Amino acid sequence: MKLSQGYWQTYKEIPNDAEVPSHQLLLRAGFIQKIAAGIYTYLPFALRVIKKIENIIREEHEKINAHEVQFSIMTPGDLWKETKRWDDMGPQMLKAKDRMNRDLCFSPTNEEAVSDLFRNTVSSYKQLPLNLYQINTKFRDEIRPRFGLLRGREFLMKDAYSFHLSKDCQDKVYDDFYRCYENIFRRCGLEFIIVEADAGAMADSSNKTHEFQVVADTGEDTIVYSSEIKYASNIEKAKTKRINLDFSNDQNLAEVETKGKSTCEDVAELLGVPLTHTLKTIMVTSIVEEEETHNMILILGDDEVNEVKLKSFLKADHIIPTKESVLSELGLVVGYMGPYQLKNSLNIIIDEAVDLSATYITGANKKDYHVKGFSLKELKYEKADLRLSQESDVAEDGKTPIKFRKGIEVGHIFQLGDKYTQSMNIKILDEKGSRQSPSMGCYGIGVTRTMAAAIEQCHDENGIIWPFSIAPFQVHFCLISKTDETKKIANDLYENIKQTGIEIIFDDRKMGPGFKFKDADLLGCPIRLTLGERDFNKTGKLEIKLRKDGDGVAVSPEEVIPALQKIISENK
Ligand code: ATP
Ligand code: MG
Repeated sequence: MKLSQGYWQTYKEIPNDAEVPSHQLLLRAGFIQKIAAGIYTYLPFALRVIKKIENIIREEHEKINAHEVQFSIMTPGDLWKETKRWDDMGPQMLKAKDRMNRDLCFSPTNEEAVSDLFRNTVSSYKQLPLNLYQINTKFRDEIRPRFGLLRGREFLMKDAYSFHLSKDCQDKVYDDFYRCYENIFRRCGLEFIIVEADAGAMADSSNKTHEFQVVADTGEDTIVYSSEIKYASNIEKAKTKRINLDFSNDQNLAEVETKGKSTCEDVAELLGVPLTHTLKTIMVTSIVEEEETHNMILILGDDEVNEVKLKSFLKADHIIPTKESVLSELGLVVGYMGPYQLKNSLNIIIDEAVDLSATYITGANKKDYHVKGFSLKELKYEKADLRLSQESDVAEDGKTPIKFRKGIEVGHIFQLGDKYTQSMNIKILDEKGSRQSPSMGCYGIGVTRTMAAAIEQCHDENGIIWPFSIAPFQVHFCLISKTDETKKIANDLYENIKQTGIEIIFDDRKMGPGFKFKDADLLGCPIRLTLGERDFNKTGKLEIKLRKDGDGVAVSPEEVIPALQKIISENK
């Protein structure tokens, strides 16, 4: 493509709301334009990258015998009502009414639509396993759309769904997708970690689920991992341990005045003890099918609650902080709460890191007072792993150190069991002639998020550094020339390079070298070819340079094509 004829421009300013590099660079390098919060127009170069990611996805899905379909962007409310998700999806699902007053929604995901397709087209085990996928627009009315394409409201997702009758088959298909995803992200040229994930509201917690996380400092997810024992988990799900903790065995139960000191940190400082001598009390109301239960959670003073673990332990649809009015009804005093002298029976859950043979400082349920030397042994409680892992933890084996890294979730695979097929009453004939609900798997890749994640991982202060396989063009050809003679040489060379199938963008605009090089760095094509008239007249050579490292090599016009081909094939 010749830039003089292209539809492309770059921008100097960084918009105020663009906090992360991918958002800034996608805007500055002319890939996207914002049209509304979390909604973007993809410009030609963005589409080139998207198509490349899509092609890799299609090739890898074909290898595992997944069939491409395309659902409508809208799905009828009736289907979502069958699975009860019409209400459960909450405000992230954007709903609409048609002129007949029928409910519709902009699909945030497509389990209902694919299950409906399945029940209309499949009746026998002979048609299984079946893998279907689409690459299509999704809409989720995210509460905080941010970071550009990383968390949009409208985004492009590849969503796949599988159907099977036996557990073995479900596991085999899951492994196929697992490997398919490994290949996709490897081919996209990204460094990623596969982590154990939380199944969330989507599925039974016994089903397998993994996330594919692109490693990047700006990632919203925390990955807990140890390469030594090949452990990697999203912090939401991570199981780690604390060791060598200093516990108290103060046997003198007594109330102590702690005026104005309502956090564990303040109380520990006031009393001159380590935080592990204190207990944090958190009151949470869990809601299961509209029924509310108030729970008292006890964790060590320097731990935090992992809400995902807590929600899944309580098997709750939602958890919320217990309302102050309820706390006072229960005789609990905000800032000074604890399991001490409870007037009401409560659902008490103690974190596993709490040593029950120790005694603790905890709220006395009296304003400005705590109690020390308090033993938990007399309480009626359950124990559970509810804390958020800390970087100083060790793995579950009690010895291997773990590390934290930041990641961007680009892919997520789940086993769904028969949750959807049961609720939609889908049955097919098995080998023995009886009717059974098949199990399902679902497998998502954020296509536009992957494009942004690639930039988060691959950029420098001057711009994007695209991995070869997903770059908008492989070669960026800058011409610095004033004379028609050199322009003709460059133009012929450009035509010849294009003929070979190499994807080349030719900067033949009437602009100075500084401007052109800045634009080339910002755009980030992996190879830069430069014809500078002055050098060319002296040496008869052009320069080939990789975007990712600065050293250029001089080549004659005849050597250009083989040299480019060599670099491209080495980076396949
Ligand atoms: P997150 O936890 O980041 O909100 P999710 O777990 O809700 O994502 P899934 O339902 O697993 O997302 O969707 C599959 C994939 O779609 C994700 O792995 C991610 O790559 C992509 N995706 C999800 N939400 C968004 C979004 N708001 N913007 C861009 N991509 C998204
Ligand atoms: Mg997910």
